[in-house]
Amino acid sequence: MSDVIVKIIPKDPKFVPSEMKLGEVKEWINFNVSNEKTEYILTDEVRFIDQGENFESIGCPFCSSNIDLDWWGEVMDKASKTSFHNLSVVTDCCNEATSLNELNYKWNAGFSRFSIEIMNPREELTIEHTEYLMQLMGCKIKKVVAFY
Ligand SMILES: [Zn+2]
Repeated sequence: MSDVIVKIIPKDPKFVPSEMKLGEVKEWINFNVSNEKTEYILTDEVRFIDQGENFESIGCPFCSSNIDLDWWGEVMDKASKTSFHNLSVVTDCCNEATSLNELNYKWNAGFSRFSIEIMNPREELTIEHTEYLMQLMGCKIKKVVAFY
């Protein structure tokens, strides 16, 4: 049996919710979706929030060609040296300036300092749920679904 981890992250990689908001978020998650275990992770560095075995491909947001994974590996390496605080890149395919966070990851992935990681949630997180969580956290959020 594989595990699914639903990861909720702010769209802005550097965003961190206030203690007060986080308290409300925890309460809501415990009551509605948490099941086996939910972790709230905050780090100084920005982390790549991956989709586990769901990794398929990455598309260019400008010309929609497939991002070359060797190129992506190199720019990820470079960004990791700044603890992923600097995510800016210029696409290899069409020379457009963007951020690693803005590439089209087939199966969402993202970058953040703060993440909520819900192990095998009791319920599917619906659009209404995510909208409510956005209000609670005070930021736009992204849902990353990872299988391991
Ligand atoms: Zn392109």
